[in-house]
Amino acid sequence: MTLQNARIGTQAPLFRPGALSLAPRFPAWRFRSKAEFDDFWQLHQSTLDNRHLRQLALATRDKTYESPGTCAACLCPTGFHSAVNGESLSDGRRMPNWREEQKCGCPHGLNNRQRAVLHLAQACGLMGWMKTLLLGAPADFTLAWQARAPDVTQLRRFHFTGGAAHLAVETASCHFAISQDEFQDIEPLQSALAELARSLLPGGRLIFTIPFHIDLAASILGAGPAMRACANQLGWDLLDQLKNAGFSDAEALLYWSEELGYLGNMNFLFLAIK
Ligand SMILES: [Zn+2]
Repeated sequence: MTLQNARIGTQAPLFRPGALSLAPRFPAWRFRSKAEFDDFWQLHQSTLDNRHLRQLALATRDKTYESPGTCAACLCPTGFHSAVNGESLSDGRRMPNWREEQKCGCPHGLNNRQRAVLHLAQACGLMGWMKTLLLGAPADFTLAWQARAPDVTQLRRFHFTGGAAHLAVETASCHFAISQDEFQDIEPLQSALAELARSLLPGGRLIFTIPFHIDLAASILGAGPAMRACANQLGWDLLDQLKNAGFSDAEALLYWSEELGYLGNMNFLFLAIK
């Protein structure tokens, strides 16, 4: 049987993320539950401590912090620039808010978590012809994404009808859906997650950031802005909520790399697969 004949009658998957990826490996540990994370914490406490000590050594009395490195999204040498506006130490030195700073010297100028989202998408196989749903993305991020995959549907927010979330996008039409720090303000969250699952092709990827509460096994949902700054405090059961919403798999990724400008103690990205 020739290879060509062997293919007759078999259905190739629509989307095989990662098969053709040229991006550097995304430097992260992956967790599917709080139990997995707790085990990891026990085993790798010294690694996490060493990272923290390294970051403490970078604290400064200067107003800005500069460091050389590599932009994983562009695969080129760059410099990272940070305003020093984060944690204060007792000796008067401060650190940048690593998650929101480490802005890249590349023309896109993305910060730590924005570059990480783009990098993870590339490591998942983002190609120029793929369709993306960008939810509430800032302008710089949208431009950087469109330079790699121009076919973008950008939506500002969900619309809710009788508690059901709705996005103006066709069913099973996108390869990627991206959200950055939106879910903590969305209620009801479960309906919004299901709507994102609806928008994705089989095998499609939802990548998102949230203010993540690593100590919470169960999220505190719908407390309302009168009670807190955010409607939801999101914890580990978010991974179960993603599966209940129609995703086949969901992971929390703890990422860190000094070379790639990903400093910070607990930087998490989330990846859910349709
Ligand atoms: Zn770059």
